[in-house]
Amino acid sequence: MKLHLFNIANFKVDGGAMFGVVPKVLWSRVYPPDNNNLIVLKLRSMIVETAGHVILIDTGWGDKQNKEFFKHVYLHGGEGLIEGLKHRGYRPEDITDVFLTHLHADHCGGSVKKGDNDGKYELTFPEATYHVSHAQWDWAVKNNLREADAFLEENILPIGKSGHLNLIEKSGELFPGFSLMICYGHTPGLMIPFIRYKEKTFVYTGDLIPTIAHIQLIWNMSYDIESLKTIEEKQIVLNEALNNDYIFVFQHDEHVECCNLEMTPKGIRAKEKFEFSA
Ligand SMILES: [Zn+2]
Repeated sequence: MKLHLFNIANFKVDGGAMFGVVPKVLWSRVYPPDNNNLIVLKLRSMIVETAGHVILIDTGWGDKQNKEFFKHVYLHGGEGLIEGLKHRGYRPEDITDVFLTHLHADHCGGSVKKGDNDGKYELTFPEATYHVSHAQWDWAVKNNLREADAFLEENILPIGKSGHLNLIEKSGELFPGFSLMICYGHTPGLMIPFIRYKEKTFVYTGDLIPTIAHIQLIWNMSYDIESLKTIEEKQIVLNEALNNDYIFVFQHDEHVECCNLEMTPKGIRAKEKFEFSA
């Protein structure tokens, strides 16, 4: 098995929305906002090579929408999706599997691009099977007012039409050393990957625990559809990770790539922060 982690891009989002009911005086101390109350998030993707598969986890915002749309996203820095892959020796054709934790635009947008010649939507990774949970697929296609800004037709429907979609029904192993847990609090059908590598287990915590600050059980995004479920699911993942010495890999944290955990009088907290290395 081979593992890589890279940052596609940084973007900005409202700090209050990222921390839900947590008062600003508390969250702003650990995650300082800019003058517009925005905080910087990263978009780390992981590449997992195992048993003849080259799996890409999440694909960032992509670039299909117009300037007006991206004005509110404040994209800056990062390696870019295709460039980040290239720096690690992969072409788009080399990706055999795209694993989408869920279908919010910052997680799946890079999966579909405008064709070079005709501008028609096509898969960015033409050889890949695209994995989405069945629960998330049905939920996103049906759409709803709360998530309408995040579930964009142009990111989602071309995957369905391509015939490359694999719907995942349940938690468990998908590839050797690569398992997933299906969650429902952030959005129904969010998939969290657990990757077993050289005696270590990496948990790509995605939008369940987007930054190190979200380890605290009630520090949750106001984007979550069902906060109480998020808390329950975080509790399960935190306990399992603490008991088995798993390593968390943060998709969105601006500064922290990884941490392990320890029990404190206040509950489970980060122990050491460190850079990803495999
Ligand atoms: Zn999300």
